[in-house]
Amino acid sequence: MSGLTAARQLLDQGHSVRVLDKGRGVGGRLATRRLSDGADGEARLDHGAQFFTTRSEAFTSLVADAMSAGAVEEWCRGFGDGDGYPRYRGESGMTSLAKWLAEGVQIELANTVVDLSEYPADAYILAMPVPQALSICSFSKCLPPPLLQRELARIDYHPVIALLATFAEPLSVPAPGGVQQPEHPVVTFIADNQQKGISQIPSLTLHASHQWSTEHWLETDDAVIAALLAEVAEHTDGAIPTATQLQRWRYAGPVEPWPEPTVTWGTGQPGDAQIVLSGDAFGSSKVEGAFLSGRAAAAAVLTH
Ligand SMILES: Cc1cc2nc3c(=O)[nH]c(=O)nc-3n(C[C@H](O)[C@H](O)[C@H](O)COP(=O)(O)OP(=O)(O)OC[C@H]3O[C@@H](n4cnc5c(N)ncnc54)[C@H](O)[C@@H]3O)c2cc1C
Repeated sequence: MSGLTAARQLLDQGHSVRVLDKGRGVGGRLATRRLSDGADGEARLDHGAQFFTTRSEAFTSLVADAMSAGAVEEWCRGFGDGDGYPRYRGESGMTSLAKWLAEGVQIELANTVVDLSEYPADAYILAMPVPQALSICSFSKCLPPPLLQRELARIDYHPVIALLATFAEPLSVPAPGGVQQPEHPVVTFIADNQQKGISQIPSLTLHASHQWSTEHWLETDDAVIAALLAEVAEHTDGAIPTATQLQRWRYAGPVEPWPEPTVTWGTGQPGDAQIVLSGDAFGSSKVEGAFLSGRAAAAAVLTH
């Protein structure tokens, strides 16, 4: 979200931009996966962000454009009692928003950046979790000044284990196909991707709580899957899934975002290229925070 946002803004201003992503597809934590049920069916499941909200004028306007283009739809106005505030989803899952943002942007996928010196440029926007950005800077010998480096290294992230599962029979997750239970010790979010409108066959996404994810991080897939499914038996009628997959998100979201929407410094090397850190750890978290940080990163490069 943050990298694509920055790239689009810079391209709109006529700059030459190269986008590299280690993923096989765009979107990062705006992540949708297909999962075959082993027979004829294929589910589509969101396993990172489940929905997003809009608060700022800039993001509200972007989401309105994405809705007009058919890339985003309103999912619901809250879970349980509902608070009347719109929750949005991508048209075919959360990656739809990223794919729409990526239209017209040339992206080199499956390309893991290790050393920035392989990509000569006037400025680098590192739009990824901070530990991953600092490791690139370390390898590239362009770490920030020591005090700043120490402060950035303190930015911590919650882990989340996500379980994806397909079922033969419809699930009994209450409308609108999502249960949010932030205080639950084990499962904080349950999504029925079929009711959500992105999967043709019954399929469930479960997000484990931060604490449970931390405590069970190293357990085998089988043990984690069994424990999580046992927690939601009331929504599956105890049915055995036709297929399952786990995703361990080491950097699901920042524990405490950095107060500013970006951090920048110069490499101090010939040409003194600018390094800009961007992403959901800067300014405010979540999808909207990543968008706002991406905009700020493009503005920082333009100012430079
Ligand atoms: C389980 C889970 C649930 C969530 N639920 C919600 C929610 O309901 N609502 C909400 O608003 N937000 C939610 N979020 C948070 C939201 O997904 C993120 O805040 C947002 O998507 C982050 O965007 P980003 O651009 O900062 O980072 P990312 O999406 O992480 O993008 C970073 C990109 O950098 C790439 N990359 C990393 N290292 C390298 C490298 N060395 N070389 C090349 N490329 C690299 C990655 O492939 C990725 O594409 C959730 C996240 C998770 C994981």
